[in-house]
Amino acid sequence: MQKLIVGNLKMNMENLSQRDTYGKDFLEEFKQMKTKNHVAVCPPMIYLEYFYKLLNKTGVSIGAQDCFWELYGSYTGNTSPKTIKSIGAQFVIVGHSERRQYNHETDEDVARKVLMALRVELMPVVCVGYNSGGEEIDNVKEQVEFIVKNFSQDEIENIIFAYEPVWAIGSGKTPTTDDVHTMIMYIRSIIAATHGKECAEGVGILYGGSVVAENVTDLCTKTYADGVLVGGASLSPRKFAQIVRMLN
Ligand code: PEP
Repeated sequence: MQKLIVGNLKMNMENLSQRDTYGKDFLEEFKQMKTKNHVAVCPPMIYLEYFYKLLNKTGVSIGAQDCFWELYGSYTGNTSPKTIKSIGAQFVIVGHSERRQYNHETDEDVARKVLMALRVELMPVVCVGYNSGGEEIDNVKEQVEFIVKNFSQDEIENIIFAYEPVWAIGSGKTPTTDDVHTMIMYIRSIIAATHGKECAEGVGILYGGSVVAENVTDLCTKTYADGVLVGGASLSPRKFAQIVRMLN
């Protein structure tokens, strides 16, 4: 089955010259890339259009790292999912642990963003695993259940979850493949409890947290994840391309 490999470039490329260098190197890696999988990259919002135009013919999709929960209105500094979609993006990351931590985003905020993303046919990649205290499993349950309970079966089928244990993000540490597999099955069981087994089987669930070329095969294949969300390693087009090749 096709895997989804998403690069989260975070707040990198701090000026146009860095953006151009990254873009040139990325294009070099991906213009001839043959992959059976789906690759997407999520640059800072201000570079969305640049990357869309740059990668348009490579087959690499574009996503945003966040969106606002309204489509129109006076919301200074926010970006409408409608605008993101109009630029050519297919995905939007929602509820990343860094946004939950630094922007104090709640499950309710995340659900509102998911609703608006779906309304304009942007596919939300909902990150779960942020630990606000207590057991990780309870946090994941709460985060997944909130989405599952607030969306219909049809809507859930258009949402992707990314299980990202917060301690694994940017740390170089990863859970065991058994632990990732258990958590993916657990997330599916939460979806199945409300929407049935068939729906749960069809929902994409990614793993994210310190994925590199050396561990991606285990973390993605042995765990039955539907793909990976990559942060640090996607900051190097060469390393990101290696990850993509490993899953071919
Ligand atoms: C992330 O930021 O979503 C992430 C998974 O980062 P890293 O790959 O660096 O752990």
